[in-house]
Amino acid sequence: MLGCFFFIVGLTIGSFLNVCIYRIPKKKSLVSPRSFCPSCNTPVRWYDNIPVFSYLLLRGHCRDCKAHISIRYPLVELLTGYLFVQLYVFAQYRHESPCVFAGYLALCCALIISTFVDLELLIIPNEVTFVGMPLAIVFSVLCPGLHNEPDTLRNFSLTGIVRFDALIASVCGVLVGGGLVFFCSVLGKWVFRKEAMGFGDVKLLGMVGGMVGWKLAVAIFFVAPFFGLFMGIPVLLMKKKHLIPYGPFLSLATLVCIVWQDYFIEIINTYIQLFTVLFTGFHS
Ligand SMILES: [Zn+2]
Repeated sequence: MLGCFFFIVGLTIGSFLNVCIYRIPKKKSLVSPRSFCPSCNTPVRWYDNIPVFSYLLLRGHCRDCKAHISIRYPLVELLTGYLFVQLYVFAQYRHESPCVFAGYLALCCALIISTFVDLELLIIPNEVTFVGMPLAIVFSVLCPGLHNEPDTLRNFSLTGIVRFDALIASVCGVLVGGGLVFFCSVLGKWVFRKEAMGFGDVKLLGMVGGMVGWKLAVAIFFVAPFFGLFMGIPVLLMKKKHLIPYGPFLSLATLVCIVWQDYFIEIINTYIQLFTVLFTGFHS
């Protein structure tokens, strides 16, 4: 029942995300005017604005001018609905608080907007990431559960104040996430003598790091290139384009690392122990 509810909520929010994907890069207001057909400017009637259903009923064409409506609209709606249900199941399974669940939903929305804008325009809008970074830190303080780790290593408290620990964890996440991509982009520019990774990706992983903490940010940084390899190279070969957006791979890696966070954090912790032994000779 609740799964169904979150699917419908996801479809509806997906419909709004479509508006964001279309309007944010054009620096237009998200609330007014109402949705309209971009080719004949006729406002979309309420009964033509029902997620997915209206697209199928109109067979992908505007009711007035018969202009083609991009498949992206129902796709984004379905994807949002699907991800909302999956995150709901995930949160239930892990007994996450509603606050953590809400945080993941918000992050998921930001990733969907970034992904589809990046796919179309090869940019990740500042309106999402630059605003998202401080929001991620504020959200972490409001909802310290985001940075809780169930095993013993993770229960280690720096200050003894849960919210303050979450603040530090979130800021570290922003710095490590953004820093890793920034380092990569500087290195890439130096080696290849051209833009290897955009600054948008720096801010994107910074925002993500603020929500999931530095350990998962590191995991995401290393998982994303695998998706890039498996999906990006065929695209490069087929379309003969020289630039592929990296935001979608970072976003996909983020969802994967959130869902399997115990596994990835375990790996990172193992590396931390390994390096501790290597550099200090100290066995814990
Ligand atoms: Zn039209």
